[in-house]
Amino acid sequence: MQARSNGKKITPVMRQYEEAKAAHPDAILFFRMGDFYEMFREDAVIAARLLDITLTSRNKGNPDEEPMAGVPHHAAAGYVARLLAFGHKVAICEQMADPATVKGIVPRQVVRVITPGLVTDTEQLDARANHYLVAVDSESGNAERGIALLDLSTGELSAGTIPDLASLLAELARCDPREVLVGGGLDPDVKKGAGLAAPRAVLRDDEPLDDGDVVATIDGAVAEPIAAEAASTLPLSARRAAARALRFAHKCTPGNPLPVRRIAPYDPTATMRIDETAQVHLELVRGADGSRKGTLLETVDATVTPAGARLLRRRLLSPLLDVASIRRRLDEVQAFVENPRARGDLREALARVGDLERLSVRTVLREATPKDLGALRDGLLAAPAAVAATRAIVDTDGEARELFGAEVDTLPELAAKLAAAFVDRPPALAREGGFVREEYDAELATQRRLARGGAEEMTKLEAELREKTGAGSLRIRFTRVFGWYIEVTKTHLGKVPPDFRRKQTVAGGERYTSDRLDELADGLENAESRALARETDIFEGLVRLVAENAERIRKLARTLASWDVAAALADVAHRQDYVRPAVDMGEALVIEGGRHPVVERLAAAGRFVPNDTTLDLGGDRLWLLTGPNMAGKSTLMRQVALITILAQAGSFVPAQAARVGVVDRVLSRVGASDNVARGESTFMVEMRETATILRDATRRSLVILDEIGRGTSTYDGLAIAWAVAEHLYDAVGCRAMFATHYHELTELAQHGPGVANWSVSAREHGGDVVFLHKLVRGPASRSYGVAVARLAGVPEPVLARAKAILATLEAGAPLPSGKHATMRGRTRQGSVQLDLFAKAKPDTDAAAPVLETLRAVEVERLTPLDALTFVARLKSLL
Ligand code: ADP
Repeated sequence: MQARSNGKKITPVMRQYEEAKAAHPDAILFFRMGDFYEMFREDAVIAARLLDITLTSRNKGNPDEEPMAGVPHHAAAGYVARLLAFGHKVAICEQMADPATVKGIVPRQVVRVITPGLVTDTEQLDARANHYLVAVDSESGNAERGIALLDLSTGELSAGTIPDLASLLAELARCDPREVLVGGGLDPDVKKGAGLAAPRAVLRDDEPLDDGDVVATIDGAVAEPIAAEAASTLPLSARRAAARALRFAHKCTPGNPLPVRRIAPYDPTATMRIDETAQVHLELVRGADGSRKGTLLETVDATVTPAGARLLRRRLLSPLLDVASIRRRLDEVQAFVENPRARGDLREALARVGDLERLSVRTVLREATPKDLGALRDGLLAAPAAVAATRAIVDTDGEARELFGAEVDTLPELAAKLAAAFVDRPPALAREGGFVREEYDAELATQRRLARGGAEEMTKLEAELREKTGAGSLRIRFTRVFGWYIEVTKTHLGKVPPDFRRKQTVAGGERYTSDRLDELADGLENAESRALARETDIFEGLVRLVAENAERIRKLARTLASWDVAAALADVAHRQDYVRPAVDMGEALVIEGGRHPVVERLAAAGRFVPNDTTLDLGGDRLWLLTGPNMAGKSTLMRQVALITILAQAGSFVPAQAARVGVVDRVLSRVGASDNVARGESTFMVEMRETATILRDATRRSLVILDEIGRGTSTYDGLAIAWAVAEHLYDAVGCRAMFATHYHELTELAQHGPGVANWSVSAREHGGDVVFLHKLVRGPASRSYGVAVARLAGVPEPVLARAKAILATLEAGAPLPSGKHATMRGRTRQGSVQLDLFAKAKPDTDAAAPVLETLRAVEVERLTPLDALTFVARLKSLL
């Protein structure tokens, strides 16, 4: 860069560019030039490719020609978003003064660096989810790591320590960050794991940080010191992580302190841990396709404010362990269930509240627009009605005073001020003006009056001139580029008086000016620009005023968000018929008439079959669940996990009654989540997930396993499933449900008193299977695999053959009882299986398989084509 500047002549603007770029070498620099953001050199090449914009050249044909690309400034947000999606940083370099008012070169400055994790633009944010940047600090060198979560858009920062890698990955999956700073040298484990747990995140190596700099770094980034307070509650590694997050964010918002007021202690051990795989399997907040569709969140999210939606999402992903806190949340929901009127009033008021949290942050970052302040005003004005609704509950129910009785500050003075200042629907751009009410400010009123007077004068002048000259087509007009002028069409050119001065010739006639017109235009422009300047001053003053009150606004927003969540859950409880669960530190999990919250909504009305489930460390703690495919085993197990999660998150649950002895972890392996994309076999993934579960489960955990061992050979699979079930029972001793297609496993019930066999029932009816979805005690009688295959449309000849094989297998050596004996029994049966698939051998009756197959076929179900295939198949067996 030096060489370039030294060796060649360089214009002052390019020098400015080079300085800005040097300060942000790793960002794509958007360099404001008039109505465009220009990019140069390497940046231009990258942007042109990624944004599909034209790559041009600056100084084309000259020796100093270089690549250039630009985007119109008003459309910049969309382009920035796309660059962020590719993982780039974008530095915005603005003109710091109006070019019209500066002599020489306009001062320019980088006002903001936008990175994937530090987005505050409403358009780019999901209103209903937090947007996190996570910093991980591994400097201590042991497994424990500091972690900090920063949501710049809401000003929330929390930090804590994480005991091990698995917990860290669970946390990453939970908060789904867009950017992860990994500090403390290479931490390959974190880097590798984060790629899977936080697939949407960009990973960055963070620069070193001296312990001595932690306090200064933290306090240097925010408006009021917070490091000292954090020191009393947080260990050093947590504060280091917080310092990293703040340092990174502060570099990206030069000039403005970050909107962070405290470092909240983040204690993952205070919440239920839901493994990254369980989050996926249970479809808590993201479905198989990555959207909200079909998730638990979608089902129970009836919130009406963005902040409420974000809070509910966080709560579902971090259910509590503390019984008193859970009960308090349930009390709130119950209060709204019992007071439908107050609930309705509250929700109606909240629907007008908007996103006070993010709006107030935008004022602190000086990014607020007039539209933002208008929305903030509307939100503040709606708050008192929300407060009144909760007061109504307190009035009828004294006990609710504890829940809703606290004083709520709705900032009435600020609300009144904003209401007085802004028109009903202020625009998104401050530049054009016209959004401050005239009555709000005497000076503004004066200038506007002058401007209006000037406009009237113009109209008068036009009429006067027309009359005086007799030129009927004479007009006084204004354009942005050209200013004010008098236009006369060709036919009347002869009537133009001598004191008109010609300005421009156009197709239809001539444009003139005159002394009087100039005088009026000056006055008018003066008044207009003074009015605009005044308006800008007022606006900026109000942005500052709101920013000064941001903490109060956020406190209000937090209160309203928690009410929103409670009232929304009450609304769902009412509509979907949920009950309040009893939550205690007992060891039972008793659900009467439980339903799967998502599947029941998709089932035809009244068609979902409720089931009772009791898992109890003092009674049956390990359930072996059998039943045909499609019977509803997986649905049942998920339903138990979801009800537990809902209960501990503080929600009512889809059941007739429920008692939940607190669960510390929900660990699951449900369904064939195949990770072929990760380059691992299904079986490998399954075993990895199983290993995690066995390692992490405690006595208080709830473990849910579906079809373990399926991905390998029968013997391997059965052996592994058996050993896993035994380990859960003997060594971990937790509450667990184990769905299996290995019928042999049901013999495990003899292993100990707490193992119970259950099955989901089905009935076979004329070769078809009817699923009853009803739980019954005892193992399932048979697997109905063939019937299900028929349901799925497998052709009849194949079914017939399968039935024949099945019959032969079932006629094979009976299995001796006892687990070790069983394995031997299987081995013997295995040889039967091999025989079956072999072609006819000399010492076996070659016609037997043909006869079996013939016997099994249901002729009335064969299509003509099926029949032909069938005959061919029979022949091949001979
Ligand atoms: P399995 O795990 O036994 O193969 P699933 O749990 O996947 O079966 O359930 C199969 C389908 O049966 C589900 O998609 C759902 O539509 C339906 N189903 C499951 N449980 C119930 C129930 N209790 N009531 C009504 N339909 C159910």
